[in-house]
Amino acid sequence: MTRSISILGATGSVGASTLDLIRRNRDEWRVVALTANCSAVDLAKLAREFDAEIAVVGDEGCLGDLREALSGSGIDAAGGARALCEAAARPVDLTVAAIVGCAGLAPTMAAIEQGGTIALANKEALVSAGDVMTRAVTQHGATLLPVDSEHNAIFQCLQGNAIEDVARITLTASGGPLRTWSQEQLAATTPAQAVAHPNWDMGAKISVDSATMMNKGLEYIEAHHLFPVGLDRLRIVVHPQSVIHSMVEYRDGSTLAQLGPSDMRVPIASCLAWPQRMDTPLQPLDLPAIGELTFFAPDEQRFPATRLAREAVEAGGAAPAVLNAANEIAVAAFLAGNIPFTRIALSVEAILQQSNLPPAPASLDDVLHVDQAARARAREMLEVA
Ligand code: NAD
Ligand code: MG
Repeated sequence: MTRSISILGATGSVGASTLDLIRRNRDEWRVVALTANCSAVDLAKLAREFDAEIAVVGDEGCLGDLREALSGSGIDAAGGARALCEAAARPVDLTVAAIVGCAGLAPTMAAIEQGGTIALANKEALVSAGDVMTRAVTQHGATLLPVDSEHNAIFQCLQGNAIEDVARITLTASGGPLRTWSQEQLAATTPAQAVAHPNWDMGAKISVDSATMMNKGLEYIEAHHLFPVGLDRLRIVVHPQSVIHSMVEYRDGSTLAQLGPSDMRVPIASCLAWPQRMDTPLQPLDLPAIGELTFFAPDEQRFPATRLAREAVEAGGAAPAVLNAANEIAVAAFLAGNIPFTRIALSVEAILQQSNLPPAPASLDDVLHVDQAARARAREMLEVA
């Protein structure tokens, strides 16, 4: 039976991994909407290959290029923030939410409001919107399937078990490319060094987040919303081999873990086939070749981001949205060569301390408002445009 799918953020790293799996199972899927920010030519190529109904660029300035690249194809072209939400609201069996940053929040919410199934990669959307998103999921009868490898691992380890029986959830972290670096070396890190992840091949923003450990901080908040066991039952352990993607410990002393190659096609395949399984081209783990699995406590002196995320989620309300917005601006400033690596976490902390936190957002508009205001403060602080 053919199922329909839309991919928000189709030209990115998660988008490409998803489309790779669709390409291998072309008969099983009907592609409805594919979206990108501005890479009109790449997007048009994908839309033609997968015979999409509509291709949308978030940046309206790129719509002319998209129209040109799609001319004669019969595929609809659209552009702008509203068009992204309209495309996301087209009914489909599965929406893959793979836009990076809070920019993906409104389209993801538009998909949720249709009550469908959403494979969520866009962690910043859930971190920012938190309860607003989880309430919408319940209200509209939507289903969230976690794409993030750790959350997908936890989701798998929870199958067939009651959440009340969970004693603890352990999120594993690779520690990123700078795990063993000294404070002095960290201060001098270049963007190229920060994005050179040892185990995973990802977009630039999440690669920097992995290097600062903010990725794990955002994932801690993401886990808190997806798996409501209480913050005291959530912990982070550094596991440099990225073989165990996360674990769930039960009250009887059993710990279930999910292991697999460090390739996003594994968790994406689990979402595409859910609640069944599908083939992927990946080789099974060669455990004797891997040899050793090691584990360390996070070092929050050199990598304060996990502490900041924990403090933000403990503070609750608007704090996680402020943390996320400040981090997005700081990461962009670092990638543009405007601030040193170590200033990313410092500026996030400063923004969180500086701001009289607004009241807890009660709606999507509230979240977007908090996000915009925090971005403006972060830009001002870092003196970036
Ligand atoms: P990426 O930068 O490779 O791709 C991002 C996609 O979003 C692209 O299609 C881009 O065109 C689109 N986009 C960017 N800004 C946009 C905007 N303002 N409006 C509309 N579209 C926009 O990112 P990625 O690595 O694929 O990550 C996507 C999301 O998945 C992120 O939230 C990331 O944290 C999460 N994630 C990624 C991985 C991974 O391995 N790459 C793993 C786990 C979670
Ligand atoms: Mg992850």
